[in-house]
Amino acid sequence: AMTNNRNVTDVAIIGAGPAGLFAIFECGMLKMNCHVVDALEVVGGQCAALYPEKPIYDIPAHPSIDARDLIAKLRAQAAPFNPIYHLGQQVATMREKDGKTLVLGTSKGATIEARAVIVAAGVGAFGPNRPPLENIGAYEDKGPGVGVHYMVTRRDDFAGKRVVIAGGGDSAVDWALSLSEIASSVAVVHRRPKFRAAPNSVAKMRNLAEAGKIEMAVPYQLHALDGNGDLNAVVVKDLGGNEKRLEADALLPFHGLSRNLGPIAEWGLNLSRNHVEVNPTTLASSVPGIHAIGDIATYDGKLKLILCGFSEAAMAAHAIHGRVHPGEALHFEYSTSKGVPAE
Ligand code: FAD
Repeated sequence: AMTNNRNVTDVAIIGAGPAGLFAIFECGMLKMNCHVVDALEVVGGQCAALYPEKPIYDIPAHPSIDARDLIAKLRAQAAPFNPIYHLGQQVATMREKDGKTLVLGTSKGATIEARAVIVAAGVGAFGPNRPPLENIGAYEDKGPGVGVHYMVTRRDDFAGKRVVIAGGGDSAVDWALSLSEIASSVAVVHRRPKFRAAPNSVAKMRNLAEAGKIEMAVPYQLHALDGNGDLNAVVVKDLGGNEKRLEADALLPFHGLSRNLGPIAEWGLNLSRNHVEVNPTTLASSVPGIHAIGDIATYDGKLKLILCGFSEAAMAAHAIHGRVHPGEALHFEYSTSKGVPAE
């Protein structure tokens, strides 16, 4: 989705996990448009980032559904209401304007003005663990297939490229296997000889290394990036201090995800141990216009379950309606009588 610099909407949703995605639908049914921001490049929150291939057994009417499929269906269910997604950026600031409007600022410089905000931020913004390399920021956001990328959103971007992959887990190994089919070269940098990935995949990688299809820089650590913002090579170092230069167009560090409640703690919301305290019937926080749902919301008896996030999304949307459409009576209706707009 496109990110304009200044956006105006009814509701701004922080977090595109299952709770945030379903909130788009619930708001949409009440004629409220949404903009949705997520720090990740993809929607789905924990389901997408932590366990896409695991089955979930406690989604009503789905005896079993893989996390990835649940997210795809939630996205499809929200789609008729034309949400605008601002992905790969964190909501960094929030302030009030004229008593009726909340203004969000993202880490990529977009602003979103909304009548109400739904904080569906889970355990905080997901972000990649960035390797501690000098000037690494100058190599990020350089475009498809070049510079530093923490996630592969399109495999084909790396066709014909010289790729250096760092890390020893499943992401590093799986992408090394996959990209070795299309990249011009693949090198894997890991600080230990042992990999923490599926043994079968590690064996495949070692075979490709023996066949000369993958270069193993093991045990080595990332040391420096060479280029002036345009990557030429990744310099790695072993424990003895010996350096090696790996020619590269792209570096893919897979060092896991960090979570960071970060700025949310600075918006004046009443918090209780990193969770936003809310009224359990309206999901209203201590700041007018800001509601919180899903894992980040807390009240007596709170259950951190996806299905509770869904219910909270519905209650928050109803509670917000009067603020977004003042003076308009809200008649409770079932989706069966109302229908959803054609896409
Ligand atoms: P999340 O899924 O955490 O999504 C929050 C999103 O907000 C993230 O994408 C984050 O990047 C974003 N965000 C946060 N702060 C910001 C910011 N400032 N700016 C931009 N974006 C931000 N639940 C079940 O019901 N059943 C299960 O079987 C189940 N199994 C699980 C298995 C595992 C391994 C794990 C880890 C969890 C499981 N859960 C299960 C829990 C479930 O995943 C969570 O309850 C659910 O994901 C919470 O959804 P959410 O939308 O509230 O938040």
